[in-house]
Amino acid sequence: MTFKLPCISGWKMQANVFPWHAETWQHWKTLLGQKSLHHAVLLASPKGSGRLALAAMLAKTILCKNGSQEPCGVCHSCELFVADTHPDFHLVKPEAEGKQICVDALRAVNHYAWKTSQLGGRRVILIQDADHLGEAAANTILKTLEEPPSSCYFILVVASMNTMLPTVVSRCNKSRPKQPKEDFVKRWVESELFQSVPIQVIRINRGAPLAAKAFIENGNVTIHEALMDAFAGYLENKQGMFILTEKLIKTSGNGLQWLSFLLLDVMKLQQATNEGLVHCESLSLVEKVSYTISSSLVIRQLMALNKMKAHLTRNLGLNNELMISNWLSDFQ
Ligand SMILES: [Zn+2]
Repeated sequence: MTFKLPCISGWKMQANVFPWHAETWQHWKTLLGQKSLHHAVLLASPKGSGRLALAAMLAKTILCKNGSQEPCGVCHSCELFVADTHPDFHLVKPEAEGKQICVDALRAVNHYAWKTSQLGGRRVILIQDADHLGEAAANTILKTLEEPPSSCYFILVVASMNTMLPTVVSRCNKSRPKQPKEDFVKRWVESELFQSVPIQVIRINRGAPLAAKAFIENGNVTIHEALMDAFAGYLENKQGMFILTEKLIKTSGNGLQWLSFLLLDVMKLQQATNEGLVHCESLSLVEKVSYTISSSLVIRQLMALNKMKAHLTRNLGLNNELMISNWLSDFQ
């Protein structure tokens, strides 16, 4: 029987253990040493935290022919893993950011799980964004997840367990690494990039170190600042709606998230608290917006924005331009 393998693609992340994952890694190493690692590991950590590098490290170690607590780096299995051609490693993920993993991909997972390992050792199936499993897709693998063949391991990577089906969570051994403190993340990004990093960059990226680093490397500091200024200007003079819409579309959804943070900051300031503001180093901007629009409008538009973000993420075919310009026009 021939299986088509949709939603399964190559591996592009280097196996690595970042300092904030050291405790989790040590725990897994102990389990590996005791030969008691659970066959289904659920790793819950935010995007941009290096969670895929950690998952890759575990997969590489499980597959390593040396059978040690760390990948040896020199055996045939380790070489294939680095070359992204390991025949017993399978990565499953959504076809696009925010989309659900399709049922066909999970059917392929069942097929893989019961196949004999091509290198005569173990088999690892890594499900990226497993919190994007619909009920039908999750039900497809429940039985395999509960009683997989002895040499098959699952690694499920999620941002949060809250949105997962309890039937999936209960079949896994859960790891939720502690998130590093804001100051630590700031120092880490600064040491990586050899430059000073504003604390609001860390907050805009929800404290995820790799996301904050990429934010700076990709020039998003300037893009973010220009977008926030353009938004504040639009609220003031109600002109340039389509230019602002275009700018927002160009940021592929990031801009809407930044505006959501800004409106939340404005709401806090209007309620006389500046505790935990995301834009803590752009107070004049937050103040300017808070004087321009009423608190009832801020609340209404923040709710509408979050709803729109969710719609746009789930339904990729929607008309972004129309939805965003409609939302902006509601400020008038
Ligand atoms: Zn090896």
